[in-house]
Amino acid sequence: MLIDTHCHLDFADFEEERDDLVKRAHDAGVKQMVTISTRVAKLEGLLALTTRYPSVFCSVGTHPNNAGDELDITADDLVRLAEAHEKVVAIGECGLDYFYDTQTPEDQKTGFLRHIEAARRTQLPLVIHSRSADDDMAAILRQETEKGAFPFILHCFSAGEMLAKTGVELGGFISFSGILTFPKSQELRDIARDVPLDRLLVETDAPYLAPKRWRGKRNEPSYVVNTAEVLAEVKGLSYAEMAEITTANAFRCFSKMPRL
Ligand SMILES: [Zn+2]
Ligand SMILES: [Zn+2]
Repeated sequence: MLIDTHCHLDFADFEEERDDLVKRAHDAGVKQMVTISTRVAKLEGLLALTTRYPSVFCSVGTHPNNAGDELDITADDLVRLAEAHEKVVAIGECGLDYFYDTQTPEDQKTGFLRHIEAARRTQLPLVIHSRSADDDMAAILRQETEKGAFPFILHCFSAGEMLAKTGVELGGFISFSGILTFPKSQELRDIARDVPLDRLLVETDAPYLAPKRWRGKRNEPSYVVNTAEVLAEVKGLSYAEMAEITTANAFRCFSKMPRL
């Protein structure tokens, strides 16, 4: 059994075939999925999916690439929404994305700090998106952890060794996506090798970034199997062992998500 800890099932890419896609995930052993919020304004759509599919859970939050559009959302709002809905099991995705400069660093940071506060208060895991922002991300995580710990995930990890080490040191989880399987990702596999087993998660970030076996195709939750296979190789374990480890980690991290 595996859990896809990060996908975007509400995206229009999946419009015509969600029933099939969830079935394919179950058939591949991907028994539960967390579909991740990119705009609080779209939470109703995510909640509708979690109602339709018992195995699908969701988060609430604003992606850094949308940060400026939702600066009216406070930490109180995030806490209230997370507590009001049984199937909201995480805060985010939020963070810093300096690769795409559609939003100012200031707006991204303002939004990010509110999400951190909400994670600290609810103790739900914070789903962190960090791209081309290693130094600022590490500094904020250190500062904010000092004010009071919060569970967090560095999702779709593709940053440098320093940020991985900082995340582990501060008690966070490191989640690997299909990027781990790409031939050119040797440096990332070297970083994964050094992440303690009890901090590893796997995800697809579907519809983006299909792993090697399906490279170039639209990604979907069932494909997380390939990422877990490569992670098992990297760690010198069997696929079954890696599946068990990452699934146990997912339930520990997403503590509000029941094992179905
Ligand atoms: Zn992301
Ligand atoms: Zn995402």
